[in-house]
Amino acid sequence: MAELVQQYLDQIRDEHAGDTEGAVADYIPELANADPTEFGLSLSSSDGFVYESGDAATEFTIQSISKPFTYALALDQVGQDVVDAKIGVEPSGEAFNEISVDDTTKRPKNPMINAGAIAAVSLVPGTTPDERFARIHEFYSRCAGRKLDIDHDVYASEKATGSRNRAIAYMLQSFGVLDGDPDEVLDVYFRQCSLRVTSTDLARMATTLARGGVNPCTGRRVTDSAVVQRTLSVMVTCGMYDAAGDWVSAVGMPAKSGVGGGIVAVLPGQLGIGVYSPLLDAKGNSVRGVRVCRSLSARLGLHFLTVTRESSSTIRARYDLCEGVRVYELHGDLLFAGAEQVLRTVENERGDYDVAILELSRIDDINGAARNMLAGLRTDLTAMNKEGFLVDPDHKVMPADTRQGHHAIVFDSLDDAVQVAKEFRAG
Ligand code: GLN
Repeated sequence: MAELVQQYLDQIRDEHAGDTEGAVADYIPELANADPTEFGLSLSSSDGFVYESGDAATEFTIQSISKPFTYALALDQVGQDVVDAKIGVEPSGEAFNEISVDDTTKRPKNPMINAGAIAAVSLVPGTTPDERFARIHEFYSRCAGRKLDIDHDVYASEKATGSRNRAIAYMLQSFGVLDGDPDEVLDVYFRQCSLRVTSTDLARMATTLARGGVNPCTGRRVTDSAVVQRTLSVMVTCGMYDAAGDWVSAVGMPAKSGVGGGIVAVLPGQLGIGVYSPLLDAKGNSVRGVRVCRSLSARLGLHFLTVTRESSSTIRARYDLCEGVRVYELHGDLLFAGAEQVLRTVENERGDYDVAILELSRIDDINGAARNMLAGLRTDLTAMNKEGFLVDPDHKVMPADTRQGHHAIVFDSLDDAVQVAKEFRAG
């Protein structure tokens, strides 16, 4: 099986290996020196297995792929309200280094263009540039699962030639978006852009996002799922600059590119992809990186809006344990739509039982909405002179602190629930 996947990747990479369009970034000599023939592709599964094809071990600078990660860190550290007060979430349709803010709010339009990214750096806590950078460096490293190094030559060049970014930072300061010294903030921004990654690092960082903030290799939570949801949202709408619409249509994965030649792409809940090929198109996106992502998405069916079928039933079995007591065994991941189906089925069949027991031990994951719906089932049933019990042996679905405000009755075993059900019928 693993070999088959490896063959797919090699094949898709080979198909684009001969493409020579585009040009390496040349605004600093260090990037102009990149080997245009290099082409690496990595894919990490959600459990951390990595497939590599081509130059997956070559290090290059992360550049703008840093932006979503620093945005995530800012959200994580200071919260969404503080971040939203300074940075918007609207696609700009402009070049990444446009010297612009929103006309009315005077905030950068989104965190994926330089203006928003520089503002995001300024929101990361730290009293000195070193302290702020240390946080960023540590955060990226935890996402990648290894300590990343900085490319000091690229950093020095970025700093020496960064007039345009300086213009942006001073503009932000004048609009009150950026607190503190713009040059200190920029120093951190240039350092974060100069961190070195491989396509495999990018695949792992992507998978950390795909897993809702848990690194697939270390198993450690790096940030929470609300931060990841917001970060992926802006990657969908703004990640590929002015090519965002085409990218979402053709590839359908939240993504981010950088002028170092990298692209990171995330298939939420499933996997992460990293690509490296330094030949860029006019927008600053890796030519072969974009093409290989298009092919991967089409051939492996990775578009995040692929609707394969209606959500499969979450009721795996239903049976009557004794007269008037019906058991519903649920399984899988339970979100709003699944819970809605369960409630409707149980209520439709209310003529067949006096007590409905929902057996939850095979539920893998549940969100707040589904939990509230299951917990509220009993209120509906008792209004119809019926009873409804939940069986949750591991307290995973209904931890004690989530039962408040509901009248749910939760048992540790099916036997206990049936016992009480019999008493209810007798009484
Ligand atoms: N260091 C570059 C800049 O700030 C990064 C740009 C990019 O990757 N798009 O201009």
